Amino acid sequence: MLFFLTEKYKYYHFLVPTMAAKTGVVASVIGTICDFYKRPKFILWPKADSCSDVQAFIDAMCEEYDVPYIEVMVKSKQWVEWFVGQKACACAFWSELEKKEDSVRYIAFDGETCRISGRDRNTPIRIDHRWQVAEKIHTIIHEFIHHYFSHHHNMDTKDHCRKFRKMEKKINAKYGIYFIYVYTKFGKHFHNFWGWPYGYSKPTAKDRGWLV
Ligand SMILES: [Zn+2]
Repeated sequence: MLFFLTEKYKYYHFLVPTMAAKTGVVASVIGTICDFYKRPKFILWPKADSCSDVQAFIDAMCEEYDVPYIEVMVKSKQWVEWFVGQKACACAFWSELEKKEDSVRYIAFDGETCRISGRDRNTPIRIDHRWQVAEKIHTIIHEFIHHYFSHHHNMDTKDHCRKFRKMEKKINAKYGIYFIYVYTKFGKHFHNFWGWPYGYSKPTAKDRGWLV
């Protein structure tokens, strides 16, 4: 503590006369500090209440990353677990034989876990906690990246390699979503840029993408 105070004193002692002499330098120093602490600009989370909302989100990413169309489906929890395995809540899949132009690719979500309704409704699907929205956006991006790597690099959907994780971190960061990789190479412990967890509070209209 003593060391810290001494250092701080030295800092001000040195800086104050310089500031007084050159106001331009003051402005530039303040500007640099402000830039450093300024919140980065994030893309607002898109509306992802129903299958068609998620389809629009995926379609936009397909265009941005130059990959073909992939169809979004919302299935039951039982169906996804039966199709993929225990604890899975979404999957991207396509025929192994396909290399043809007309082949169809799919991403299926467990609507109950991911909080996505199969059809458009007047009353939006209920979401109790902010972390559920953050995790949903993360899951949608995750499945899209499987599609991307399969198309561009012929990579298997079980593979969460270094390149995959790098891209996943990068896209999530654009939406202000940060997380930690656990040993299974899945993202967990979602938090914002400052390290705050998304938490249990009710998501706002902005969180739900209703203002976009
Ligand atoms: Zn995966």
